[in-house]
Amino acid sequence: LQAEIFHLDRLNLVAQMAAGIGHEIRNPMTTVRGYLQLLGVKPEYSSQKSIFELMISELDRANSIISEFLSLARTKKAELELQNLNDILNNLYPLLEADTFNQNKQIEFVPGTIPDILINKKEITQLVLNLTRNGLEAMKERGRLRITTISEMDHVVLTVEDEGCGISNEDLAKLGTPFFTTKDYGTGLGIATCFKIAQNHQAKIDIDSGSQGTKFTITFPLPLELMAGNQKAV
Ligand code: ADP
Ligand code: MG
Repeated sequence: LQAEIFHLDRLNLVAQMAAGIGHEIRNPMTTVRGYLQLLGVKPEYSSQKSIFELMISELDRANSIISEFLSLARTKKAELELQNLNDILNNLYPLLEADTFNQNKQIEFVPGTIPDILINKKEITQLVLNLTRNGLEAMKERGRLRITTISEMDHVVLTVEDEGCGISNEDLAKLGTPFFTTKDYGTGLGIATCFKIAQNHQAKIDIDSGSQGTKFTITFPLPLELMAGNQKAV
């Protein structure tokens, strides 16, 4: 019975995923098809640049949904390397700041003194990008987003905190479910990807959300050698 339930769960998941991706890809296709049909009957519209820009952005959207989905579905684990989380964040900072261009929003990075840990640069970059974008999107007009790193006894802790709208308890329970989104143009794959990345790093994600904003805390384990060193010091 156990195995059967597991099997049905998997089938259920496959069905849910297929429905999600089908819906997400069909929307942009319908839009592009509509525009092409319009251009067929009214060739004079072809002088309107905005129609082409819209079609391209719809196709880009479909493409990014497919890429995000594929990276989520990948079963091969990304390799981890001993390196410093602060280096990755310092590299990423200009890109994050570009997201706030022309907005009343600030991003602050407060690096702590932390030891090297086993991480994959590409995955950590993706994780921080996803969390930061969500944080910025949650702050409607203005606000400050803060990224910190600190060293704790047996862990390195990364936090991403915003002053946005917060997440209701009901939505909090759905967080990480692929395709769960409350946004008109969301993909609902960002947090699911973060959970997958955290799992690959044996890291834990805690979420603390209220009317003042949301804080994501990602707790990374220290590599074994360092943990042994710590215990000697005690
Ligand atoms: P998307 O951003 O495409 O909607 P995500 O997986 O990144 O998909 O996020 C899923 C949902 O979780 C969002 O639609 C939003 O409702 C909620 N959410 C995630 N991060 C935050 C945040 N920092 N503040 C408020 N809501 C958030
Ligand atoms: Mg997102």
